[in-house]
Amino acid sequence: MCSMLFLDRAEMDKRFRVLRQELLQRPISDELRGWNYGNPPVKPISASLRFGVGELASRYCETLRDIYLKRVLGVKPPPSYKMIRGVAFHEVMKTALFDMKRFIYDHADSCGKEMLVNLLPRSESVGSGALAKAESVLGGKLDEYEANLTKLGCANLYEFLIVQGAAALDRTLSKYPHAESDSIVNVAVPPVSERKVDGSLVGLSTELSVDIYTPFNAIADVKTGEVRSFHPLTLAGYALAIESDEGISIDFGFIIYIRVDKKVPSFAIKHLIVGEEYRREFLEVRDEAHSIISSGKDPGKPSRCPNFCPYYGVC
Ligand code: SF4
Repeated sequence: MCSMLFLDRAEMDKRFRVLRQELLQRPISDELRGWNYGNPPVKPISASLRFGVGELASRYCETLRDIYLKRVLGVKPPPSYKMIRGVAFHEVMKTALFDMKRFIYDHADSCGKEMLVNLLPRSESVGSGALAKAESVLGGKLDEYEANLTKLGCANLYEFLIVQGAAALDRTLSKYPHAESDSIVNVAVPPVSERKVDGSLVGLSTELSVDIYTPFNAIADVKTGEVRSFHPLTLAGYALAIESDEGISIDFGFIIYIRVDKKVPSFAIKHLIVGEEYRREFLEVRDEAHSIISSGKDPGKPSRCPNFCPYYGVC
């Protein structure tokens, strides 16, 4: 994934080696691995009820009333500015990666500067296209001010990623002057690949898609909003799904926080062990969601509702 273009490979590997030591102190028991899907606590209560990872992990609401609203009453949260912006940024990242790869394949003898000249002029149209796509996916429309802000953020993000990609291309070319396009792409683009995962054995959707940093089997998640304490739960859900589907262990993950409010976007990366606490908490939410849906009972509101809860206006 192109958002990974700014990842510093040496730094990443160092962080994961440290976590590997930490994992020795607090290993993850087999009981809480996805391949234990035949037994509690991993075994889902029902094989037919399936959840999206984000649906369970985005724990804005402590009492899970959001699940009740969505699954029992069929209420959808109105798409907010932040939601539309987040989808637009993800779209920009996908486009940037695709454009860079295509450029390298189509222009076998080109360098970073030519990539810049070729791709940078696209930034505005990529920004408008990403916003239009996000609005149509979520079925909402931003007002003019928010739309312009989002388009500008998208264009800045695209330009930033292309500049990183061009620099990576030149570094690769100067190190391997005789490499072919295919291997240039492999070296210039970091070792992150998108994996399709069937999470049905652990009560999750059949078509999940997860980014994996392959040298450490670490799973990645990109967030474009504020840092929230429940974000690691997303990684727990994906780890359980991959372990159940493929039987490989997923010990590490990282969350990339992207901020696009300045001309040059900034990134913060949180590396973590997908440990037992996160797994337990995720499974508890899954089972609680199941019981709310099967009983159809309103769980009520928590003592305080965060105003950034997507359901705040309709709950
Ligand atoms: S508004 Fe409150 S009760 Fe409703 S879903 Fe959000 S946090 Fe839960």
